[in-house]
Amino acid sequence: FAINMTQLQLEEELGRGNYGTVKKVLHKPTKVYMAMKEIRLELDQSKLNAIIMELDILHRAAAPEIVDFYGAFFIESCVYYCMEYMDAGSLDKLEGEGIPEGVLGRITGSMVRGLKFLKDDMQIIHRDVKPTNVLVNRKGEVKLCDFGVSGQLERSLAKTNIGCQSYMAPERIKGESQNNLGTYTVSSDVWSLGLSMIEMSLGHYPYPPETYANVFAQLTAIVHGDPPELPEERYSDDARDFVSRCLHRVPELRATYAELLDHPFLVEDQTRAVDMPGWVAQAIDYRDSKQREQLEKQQQQHQQQQ
Ligand code: ATP
Ligand code: MG
Repeated sequence: FAINMTQLQLEEELGRGNYGTVKKVLHKPTKVYMAMKEIRLELDQSKLNAIIMELDILHRAAAPEIVDFYGAFFIESCVYYCMEYMDAGSLDKLEGEGIPEGVLGRITGSMVRGLKFLKDDMQIIHRDVKPTNVLVNRKGEVKLCDFGVSGQLERSLAKTNIGCQSYMAPERIKGESQNNLGTYTVSSDVWSLGLSMIEMSLGHYPYPPETYANVFAQLTAIVHGDPPELPEERYSDDARDFVSRCLHRVPELRATYAELLDHPFLVEDQTRAVDMPGWVAQAIDYRDSKQREQLEKQQQQHQQQQ
């Protein structure tokens, strides 16, 4: 069956990205809550049709580590894309002051299995691995979204700002600056996986903009500097070795997904007891209390100004 706008009841906004807005919606015929992403594109009908057709292969991308796809449609020059609603949101907002090793192992295992499924069963390279594209629910499930499935959509999104928070591998950053888009291989996603793990351990992006004079200096650090490592005090040698296998500057030296699944860090994850629902509940509480604090601070500043 095909989804259309008249079947949807709009609820609250879940977040905003560079290219669109994500809203929670209720699909009235089935009573299923969904997340609907709106992407505004200035394209003609035939290109919009091509995007909807290309997105259709997402119906085959069914796996426990991939967010379910329900359907896409367009109205005027907006593409609407409906997917599984994940009630704990994205990882970037659940990191707190850093995710403990056991939980990091579970999340990483899901990410590697998801990426391996996309590559082996769907011949898809993700191309946008980062904490905002890893979604979590209160059951403790971890799933990937926003992978590059439509060539037409990728070409239509003006990828303007590669700076600020780049999860791109060094070879991609170099490639972009030479305007050469052909350098992307599956190992570029392995770099982004490693960088996402560092972020999850720190609770913030590993190359904080405020420590660099400008975006050029920041990108230079990613391309030429020593890759970041997991903090020694809080993570085991296995965990630290795993990340170092992902964050090689030379793409050919990075581990493959099969090698990562066989690594002691993920082998141990199979037998380790981790309370994922418990962690999710606590991470949501922390996130919401921080948000409330921020709101109160803003209100106080506002009152002082008056
Ligand atoms: P960028 O535009 O740089 O890729 P992004 O990934 O944050 O950033 P979007 O993909 O538009 O941008 O998503 C915006 C936010 O909406 C996400 O950060 C996430 O918190 C939330 N979100 C996206 N999809 C879902 C979903 N299926 N369920 C719940 N929340 C979601
Ligand atoms: Mg996203």
